[in-house]
Amino acid sequence: MQFYSTNAQAPLATLEKAVVKGLAEDKGLYMPERIKTLSDSFFDNIENLSFQEIAFTVADAFFGEDVPADDLRRIVNDTLAFDCPVVPVTDNIFALELFHGPTLAFKDVGARFMARLLQYFIHKEGDEGNTVNVLVATSGDTGSAVANGFLGVDGIHVYVLYPKGKVSDIQECQFTTLGQNITAIEVDGVFDDCQRLVKSAFMDQELNAHLKLTSANSINVARFLPQAFYYFYAYAQMKKRGLADRLVVCVPSGNFGNICAGLFGKRMGLPVSRFIAANNANDIFYQFLQTGEYNPKPSIQTIANAMDVGDPSNFARIYDLYGKNHSSICADISGATYTDEQIAQTIKKVYFETGYLCDPHGACGFRALKEGLRENECGVFLETAHPAKFKHTVDQIIGQPVNIPEKLAEFMKGKKLSVPMTKEFADFKQFLMTC
Ligand SMILES: *Cc1c(COP(=O)(O)O)cnc(C)c1O
Repeated sequence: MQFYSTNAQAPLATLEKAVVKGLAEDKGLYMPERIKTLSDSFFDNIENLSFQEIAFTVADAFFGEDVPADDLRRIVNDTLAFDCPVVPVTDNIFALELFHGPTLAFKDVGARFMARLLQYFIHKEGDEGNTVNVLVATSGDTGSAVANGFLGVDGIHVYVLYPKGKVSDIQECQFTTLGQNITAIEVDGVFDDCQRLVKSAFMDQELNAHLKLTSANSINVARFLPQAFYYFYAYAQMKKRGLADRLVVCVPSGNFGNICAGLFGKRMGLPVSRFIAANNANDIFYQFLQTGEYNPKPSIQTIANAMDVGDPSNFARIYDLYGKNHSSICADISGATYTDEQIAQTIKKVYFETGYLCDPHGACGFRALKEGLRENECGVFLETAHPAKFKHTVDQIIGQPVNIPEKLAEFMKGKKLSVPMTKEFADFKQFLMTC
């Protein structure tokens, strides 16, 4: 399958090129040339299939022409080494829990899939001797998902650049304690410095002649498309409960990659009635739905900080998917936006009324369903991270300490290992030249 750029200026790319390059030459996002509709018999029988079987069928539609079935099945099975259960919160609102992976957030799915697909291409090229180096700048969560997704994957080394003192202890330990093929680089600067170092490295010819460099950005097709897997699995679980007839799916959104994968699912025939995009105070998409105008703004800091995005990169994909038509977008997606106060109030109310503890992102999703569901509709919101990842915030809201899951506690016990770095590119380059 070929991939085209949303900016329509770059040539078509093979899957391998789209994965290795991430962004097209014209700075557009890659889109699959075709979106296949899955068969009626697949949907008729979906509630009897395992998560891995469902995911393989979805993966095959996008990657099956480029990756042999046996390899693709192994990649899918390795990726999904954990469950994504649907859990009831109220009579008609359910949480799709995406936090049972290694770093307790949904980004594990895409990061693990991309690592394994990249490894497949390295083997195919017979290029094992030539390590691929993944550079990633993080303000917290992306670094942990990518580092853990690639941990122990042969032939790939990951460098995570993060701003010194600007990442929470819980986040930091998830990528600084791993060792093996993961190197954490603690930059004496802010997140923008980290991002600038990574961008400069990709543009430096001498460095690129010395090392094979790639990114693992969230806009990568190999990170973004696999997120469709769990929408199908959620549908299967709701169908098993007899509640899938008028299903609304609500996605707490920042860069809009996650919801975009769900919209691809709908295009493949997934019988979801409609989607809701739940925003925090960063309401650019919400405003677009109301007015038809897309006006990026500087991001505002909120307690649902993984959604603090002022210019969602995957907007270009959604716009393209719907033929740049505002009313077609509005027919499938509605929006909601919540202040920090409303998010906190929701976490508290849901916890004390139902016993279910949402994280700040999931709370936006719950509330948007609570306010937006019509009669006879059932809703599933994506619980995108475990509340313990935002322990400081959540403890204060509910007035009691959140339990830290074993997996997270293990990270916190590990020994922190990181390479100190200035924010000067010359220093970073010299470091990489000796790797
Ligand atoms: C990344 C992230 C989001 C936002 O997802 P997008 O795909 O960027 O819209 C929401 N919640 C959590 C916990 C995240 O880490």
